[in-house]
Amino acid sequence: MSYTANLNRYDSMPYNRCGRSGLKLPAISLGLWHNFGGVDVFENGRSMLHRAFDLGITHFDLANNYGPPPGSAEENFGKIMKQDFSSYRDELIISTKAGYLMWPGPYGEWGSRKYLLASLNQSLKRMKLEYVDIFYSHRPDPDTPLEETMMALDQAVRQGKALYAGISNYPAEMAKEAARILRQLGTPCLIHQPKYSMFERWVEDGLLDVLEEEGIGCIPFSPLAQGLLTDKYLNGIPEGSRASKSWGFLKPHQVAPAIDKVKKLNQIALQRGQSLAQMALAWLLKDKRVTSVLIGASSVKQLEDNVAVINKLAFTNEELDLIEKILKG
Ligand code: NDP
Repeated sequence: MSYTANLNRYDSMPYNRCGRSGLKLPAISLGLWHNFGGVDVFENGRSMLHRAFDLGITHFDLANNYGPPPGSAEENFGKIMKQDFSSYRDELIISTKAGYLMWPGPYGEWGSRKYLLASLNQSLKRMKLEYVDIFYSHRPDPDTPLEETMMALDQAVRQGKALYAGISNYPAEMAKEAARILRQLGTPCLIHQPKYSMFERWVEDGLLDVLEEEGIGCIPFSPLAQGLLTDKYLNGIPEGSRASKSWGFLKPHQVAPAIDKVKKLNQIALQRGQSLAQMALAWLLKDKRVTSVLIGASSVKQLEDNVAVINKLAFTNEELDLIEKILKG
C-alpha cells in the first residue's frame, strides 16, 4: 500500500497560533504514546497516521520512551515517515521529548544536559529525521538546575536538531522561570504540554495565566482522560480497551469511580448532538489559550470521531453550567 495525501486535507481543520510564536498548530494533534509501539499492530498505526494527515492533522507527538518497549513508537514512526511521509516533511510538525527513564545509569533520565542531548540524538536516529520541530523537557527535574535543562533545549535548537523548545508537566512558577531563562538565551519557549481534561484541571490554578502572559501555547495531553471521557466504559471495561491491557496506563480501578459522572456528561453530549469524546475536546478548545488538543486513538474510527469535534465547538452558558455542576458533584 503506497500513500498519497488527500488533496483536500487543509479544507476543514482549524489551525491556531501557538502562543505568540509564528507557528500554527492544528486544533487536533495526534500522540503516539499508546498504539504505535512494538506490542501494537504496525499497519493500524500506519493507517491512523495516513488518515490523520488526510484530515488536516499536521502535528504528531512522540517521546523517547513511547512504546512499549521504550523507543519502539519512534522506530515505527521512522519507518512510516520514510515510507509514506518523506515528501511531506515540510508540512509536518514532529515533536519528541526526553525526561523519563530510557537507559540505565545516571544519564538515562531527568533533565541534565548530558541526558537531553544524547536522547535527542537517539530519537533522531530512530525516527530517521534530521531535526524535530519541537523538543521538550518531558518533566521538571528537582535536582538539575533549571538553567542547565533550558540551556540544553537552547543548544538543541542552535544545533539545528530542533526548531522550537517546549516544556511538559512544569508547574506554573517553574514554567514562568523556564520561560524567562529561555527568553534570555534567545530561544523563546514555544509550548507547554500539561495533563488537562474535564477530570484533571490543575492548569486552571495559575498555569494557564502564566502561559498567556508569557505568550506560550498550551497543548493538553490526555484530553479524554485516556478514554474515560468517551462512551466506551459506560457498560464495563471492553476487551482490547486501554484499561484492559496490561501495558495500558489506564488501570481498571480508575474506571468505576468515574462512571457516574461520565453517564451524566454523556447525556449532555447526546443533547448537543455530538459524542462525549467530541464534547470533552470542544470543552478544552473553548479556551483560546489552548492551541491544540493532543489526542490518542486506537483506530481510524476513533480518530474520525474525534476530529469531527470541529463541526460543533460552541457551548451555551446553560450547557457549561450543567457540565460544571456534574464535574463538581
Ligand atoms: P486521550 O485522553 O485522548 O486517550 C486516548 C484513548 O482514548 C485512545 O487510545 C482510546 O483508547 C480512547 N479513545 C480515543 N478516542 C475515542 C473515541 N472517539 N471513542 C472511544 N474511545 C476513544 O489521550 P492519551 O492519554 O492517549 O494521550 C494523548 C497523547 O498525549 C499521547 O499519545 C502523548 O503524545 C501525549 N502524552 C503526553 C504526556 C506527557 O507527560 N507529556 C503523558 C501522556 C500522554 P482505547 O485504546 O481504549 O481504544
